[in-house]
Amino acid sequence: MENDLYEILGVAKDASQQDIKRAYRRLAKENHPDLHPDDTVKEETFKRVSAAYEVLSDDEKRATYDRFGSAGGNPFGGGGNPFGGGGGMGDLFDVLNSVFGGGFGGGGGGGRSRARRGQDFRMELEVSFTDAAFGAQHEVEIPHYDPCETCDATGAKPGTKPQTCTQCAGSGVVRQQQGFFAMQRACPRCGGEGMIITDKCGTCKGERFIRSDETLEIDIPAGIDTGQQLRWSGKGAPGEGGGPRGDLYVVIRLEDHSLFEREGRDVICVVPIGFTQAALGAKVEVPTLDGKVNMSIPEGTQTGKVFRLRGKGFPGLDGGGRGDQLVEVVVETPVRLSDRQRELLVEFAEISGDDVHPEKQSFFDRLKNLFD
Ligand SMILES: [Zn+2]
Ligand SMILES: [Zn+2]
Repeated sequence: MENDLYEILGVAKDASQQDIKRAYRRLAKENHPDLHPDDTVKEETFKRVSAAYEVLSDDEKRATYDRFGSAGGNPFGGGGNPFGGGGGMGDLFDVLNSVFGGGFGGGGGGGRSRARRGQDFRMELEVSFTDAAFGAQHEVEIPHYDPCETCDATGAKPGTKPQTCTQCAGSGVVRQQQGFFAMQRACPRCGGEGMIITDKCGTCKGERFIRSDETLEIDIPAGIDTGQQLRWSGKGAPGEGGGPRGDLYVVIRLEDHSLFEREGRDVICVVPIGFTQAALGAKVEVPTLDGKVNMSIPEGTQTGKVFRLRGKGFPGLDGGGRGDQLVEVVVETPVRLSDRQRELLVEFAEISGDDVHPEKQSFFDRLKNLFD
């Protein structure tokens, strides 16, 4: 299910009001329940198209949606919210309700249900290669909302009560004729809440909840990888009207590593070796997730050769065994030779019958002289 209003209408983010209206008319006609009485898919599409149009056809709502709508973030629209990124966690109507305060997705005509689950929070957490390989504990700060005790979470000043909205009679929705369609939309007077607070509670400023920070200990399981997410049920935004809290999703991103890359359970690493080591064979030190190990290079090793260190990769999240480390060796050609080294190499070349130019300076020496 597409949750982006622009994509629902099939228009660009900078579409003109005329384009939006044209797209809406076409889709509404194609999907109108009166024309397709038994088609529940079309009916659902029609509701989504209508909701999208209701927001995008109103410049103010459109601006609000552009700022908060796809963010899936703080339901109270406050600043400094660390939970950005990817929408699509909740249903479209949850998103719209949290941005515009209710009234979306009603359908049917019986008004909306008051109890509503709070929105999910989503945050990204960067973990190091080592933590991802062996597991770790992290602390994250998340916002916590407690019901305001001063007003008993009504948002109204003690001694006063929220008044039932006169325009929608407390249902939060109004019916409106648009062309030949009867549309339901969020009540403009109460913003879909059904109630109007005339005297706001001084403690929570009418928000009904008091925000504080909560520190959450997160266990990073060994083997976790980029894109995988951990879920804490009930650590999201508070519900409405007695509805349960949403959930918290922590999306993992592996930090870049200066030496390693990850491919599934395997670790990939490039190790430079000298040309004499490659020719004669050697023991070289190789970094792994577990620390340095010695690896044998057989004589006659070519550049680009890949060696496998078994069991030096990442474990499986399911408790499965560890992957391998793949070590690609790159043979380095020395760039600065001492006189003695040069002499030996010339002799080596002569024995090999190679045509070399020992009298010539190296490219780097010439480059140096050029600028001295
Ligand atoms: Zn209060
Ligand atoms: Zn109202």
